[in-house]
Amino acid sequence: MSCHDLPSMSAIGSHGRTCCAHVLAWLESRDSAEKAIMPAGLPAEWLQQTFAWGPSRWPFFWCDLVAAETIDCGVFADLTQYLLTLRGYDVARVQLVERSHRSQTKHWAKVWRDAGCDPSVWIIDPETVYHEALAVDIGGVVRIFDPTENVAVGSQTSTAGPPIRMRLVESVGPANSVVRWNGVELRLGEWVDIPPARESRDESRHVAGPRWQL
Ligand SMILES: [Zn+2]
Repeated sequence: MSCHDLPSMSAIGSHGRTCCAHVLAWLESRDSAEKAIMPAGLPAEWLQQTFAWGPSRWPFFWCDLVAAETIDCGVFADLTQYLLTLRGYDVARVQLVERSHRSQTKHWAKVWRDAGCDPSVWIIDPETVYHEALAVDIGGVVRIFDPTENVAVGSQTSTAGPPIRMRLVESVGPANSVVRWNGVELRLGEWVDIPPARESRDESRHVAGPRWQL
């Protein structure tokens, strides 16, 4: 699969009416309450308690969250970016291609098909999947974060396979700074191959605690 065949970044749509406006207002007030209770927590924490990872039907709108029991990595990424931005963070979207196992992808393909969703949108081949993440500026250092799992990308606590390609979709961090993941420079808008030697290095040791704290 060439880079051009990879999906574009997922974006939650708005109907521009009260249906979506009410959901955005609810998200904002719920996140503000969560932030008051857990000042060091991430929005991803309560989102994961509310929604399980699974299929989303696209196009997906904000008001679709009301009935959603599962949301996919694209919805997690867009939603978490929205909430982190409200919390005042500089945050950008990141697209990934990750290694996976045949048994996992076979199972996921069935789950997606059973929900009436097309698994070929993100399961590239039996051992390779498309995924979405975030780049967050934390005190001038940009970290690559997986909002679906609430861990650093590449962390040993992640159940996802190692990333083999990454693309920073939006600019983030201090002006003229270079965004890196495990030493690999992520150039804005370009798919960058992750050398195999870097794939499995665990970046979580750079992060305080087993989970992310902002
Ligand atoms: Zn709506």
